[in-house]
Amino acid sequence: MFSRELSAHGRAFLNYESLAGVEVKDMTIDGFPAKLFFNPARVRSVMADVSPEALQQRACFLCPDGVEENQLTHNWESSTGHTYYIRVNPFPIFSPHFTVSSSVHERQELLPHLEAMLHLAKELPEMTIFYNGPMCGASAPDHMHFQAVPRHSLPIEDHFSTNYANAILVQETDLQTHLAAVKRVLAMGTIPEEASQTGSLTIGASHSEEYEPRWNIVTWYEDMWHTVIFFRRESRPMCFFAPEEERILFSPATVEMGGIGIVANRESFDRLTPARLRDIIREVADNPLA
Ligand SMILES: [Zn+2]
Repeated sequence: MFSRELSAHGRAFLNYESLAGVEVKDMTIDGFPAKLFFNPARVRSVMADVSPEALQQRACFLCPDGVEENQLTHNWESSTGHTYYIRVNPFPIFSPHFTVSSSVHERQELLPHLEAMLHLAKELPEMTIFYNGPMCGASAPDHMHFQAVPRHSLPIEDHFSTNYANAILVQETDLQTHLAAVKRVLAMGTIPEEASQTGSLTIGASHSEEYEPRWNIVTWYEDMWHTVIFFRRESRPMCFFAPEEERILFSPATVEMGGIGIVANRESFDRLTPARLRDIIREVADNPLA
């Protein structure tokens, strides 16, 4: 009931034109069925400047004051004691596509909210919930949030493979057992001592204050909890910083690690061949088991 109501809100609010114009290329990569979406409306997310300076200068779009007038908010209270605002993402990749943000303006950090994320997955079995780390695709790293999209949106859900992005899958029927198992995997992640040039979200930005390992997390509930963990080495690939004529504006987050590449300009869409996509994912993915 809850999720059906949300879906109705979502469809009413969504800018369908922005999704209707999306072009799709299918790409099989080492046997994994990835896709590339050309979605010009996503340019704000792909190009997001999330340097501390830029964040200070903008109003937070996940806080109540920054929400657009016609954007409905559903309050969701987790049994963990946290409250979240569920709203339609005004820059959707999927339909519907929600943001689930903390009712408190606090930094993007997974561990304090991981259990709530698992509860949400069970309460919304028609949705897949994901988390982008502050250095791994979150366009509001200063405000804790998840995203929720329809189940089966990401190829990794139905075609689990470690080949594409060194994905690690945890499956358990008991919540606390699952939570503990996911935490054991997450404990393998390390905080990079020094962000490399390509790891910087904007050229020249300082990231000396990274506080959690770089990761993207996906979770859903179907008979049991399923959580996929992607560890990350780089925030953005080298090609993002390449000269204009070779540049590919590709900024991998959970959706990309899960098999859906998003680009917001025509040149990048044409340049991104299956071989390039495979190389980029290898470049940004980490494998703590190796
Ligand atoms: Zn905020």
